[in-house]
Amino acid sequence: MLKYFKLQELVSSSVYQRFGENSWMFLDPTTLAGLDILVDVMTAEFGGRVYIIINNWESGGTFQHSGLRTWEELQVVYKGAKKIPLSLHLFGKAFDIKCYFKGHYLDSKTVEKAILKNWGKLHPYFSTIEEDPKGWNHLDNRYLPSIDTSKVPYKVPLL
Ligand SMILES: [Zn+2]
Repeated sequence: MLKYFKLQELVSSSVYQRFGENSWMFLDPTTLAGLDILVDVMTAEFGGRVYIIINNWESGGTFQHSGLRTWEELQVVYKGAKKIPLSLHLFGKAFDIKCYFKGHYLDSKTVEKAILKNWGKLHPYFSTIEEDPKGWNHLDNRYLPSIDTSKVPYKVPLL
């Protein structure tokens, strides 16, 4: 159980319809703990409650694939791409976050700056971010045994 997120925000409607509360089993506990910490870190950084939006399909929003993705959903997300990447979203270890603060969404570059500034608090839970974010910030907890990500995150290109 998380402090700030419901299961429906972390999986798609099709996964939730099929597996219900059992959908927790597909998500990585370390990465999940990081999401709650991220809310606290952002709230402290911006000096007021920051809401982190992942999926919002349950409340009628359009975000559906920002958390766990099934293989079928990955085909939809990367429709038209030459190659479908093997995504950390498939393993419940990646989330695309949108930060909402005082009535508007924070720019993803501003969010990235805050993530980098507070990386020391986030590192045990996340190892990687997508560089040059546009519209959202991708964070994941991929295992990188030969790379030290304790000071700065490993950066991957936006796919
Ligand atoms: Zn992502």
